[in-house]
Amino acid sequence: MKTYSEILKSIDEGGILVSEDLKVLLNLTNKTQMQTLFDRAYQVKADNVGKKVYFRGIIELSNICEKDCYYCGIRKSNLSQERYMMSEEEILKAAEWADQNKYGSIVLQAGENTSKNFVEFIEKLIKKIRRLSGNRLGITLSLGEQTKDSYRKWFDAGAHRYLLRIETSNDKLYKFLHPENHLYSSRLKCLENLRKLGYQVGTGVMIGLPQQTTDDLVNDILFFKKIDADMIGMGPYLVHKETPLADSLPDFDKIKEYQLNLSLKMIAVTRIFLQDVNIASTTALQSLNPTGREMGLLAGANIIMPNITETKYRASYQLYDNKPCIDENSSMCRNCLERRIASIGETIGYGEWGDSKHFRKKR
Ligand code: SAM
Ligand code: SF4
Repeated sequence: MKTYSEILKSIDEGGILVSEDLKVLLNLTNKTQMQTLFDRAYQVKADNVGKKVYFRGIIELSNICEKDCYYCGIRKSNLSQERYMMSEEEILKAAEWADQNKYGSIVLQAGENTSKNFVEFIEKLIKKIRRLSGNRLGITLSLGEQTKDSYRKWFDAGAHRYLLRIETSNDKLYKFLHPENHLYSSRLKCLENLRKLGYQVGTGVMIGLPQQTTDDLVNDILFFKKIDADMIGMGPYLVHKETPLADSLPDFDKIKEYQLNLSLKMIAVTRIFLQDVNIASTTALQSLNPTGREMGLLAGANIIMPNITETKYRASYQLYDNKPCIDENSSMCRNCLERRIASIGETIGYGEWGDSKHFRKKR
């Protein structure tokens, strides 16, 4: 087994890390060593994908969900959650705002809805968004598990990226986090279908889940490599008090710093291991620390997903407690992010799609 210094040397020399090395890095607790890891990951990012941050304006278009994931605040059994579905007009207005503000790309995200009406609604929306932006706006979808036919319809309509987190690559842990009818194998199949259809495929996991071990996280990173992911969207698991999983972490406030550090280490190790993929610095990081997203960028992430959902809906899309920015509007988010990104010496790739370099290299 290599020592910490030997692993650093190997990174500097462009050597290939093995799972044992990833584990050593993920287990670091010494502040100086963690900072050195983040600095190395930042260098790998600068060398492979540059120092530009790309925006994906996220529209959380509906919190109606057919599923019941034990961790999620908008799961169907949370009856205290009021449900909404944005109108076509509202969604197009948000997309237009993103285009006018040169966001380059948007993400359409929602609870899982496999109804024929919903699939057709999304197909129509994609076509309209392409048209209204003169094909300028890149379109990423994050709409959960769907049939291959639905994925195909949306791809043909003009969507080109899809985010579907595997949540955890450990089948047993997956079972612990979901009801019996939510199958790990179905999620895998969806990722496979998305790849076959030609999407840029994004996946990811929640970090710091109850019962999750460092070996699980190591295997998650190996999983990203195995499925040849183009984009990674991962973030800390955060408690929503009205979910079944909340009882598993009763003292969540006491472990916030641990969750933040573990999430940053995951970003850094993933960057070092996968090099040229796009990695998001998620909003969940910001709920653990006001500058969490900047920390994510400095640990190797290169994508930010500013919320461009109409303010009145934001409080109803609470996947976890204390989600930040729910009382802000899109312009406030843009100005705030510009300041934050400038403060760490990076620039924003305005008007660019900012596709995954990893995906482009395969073409
Ligand atoms: N319904 C789609 C799906 O599940 O893929 C897309 C929307 S879902 C809200 C997006 C992501 O939110 C999930 O993949 C999950 O990782 C994340 N999420 C849900 N509850 C969370 C929690 N309590 N803490 C952190 N992330 C959470
Ligand atoms: Fe629904 Fe996605 Fe939440 Fe699961 S994570 S309950 S699929 S919105």
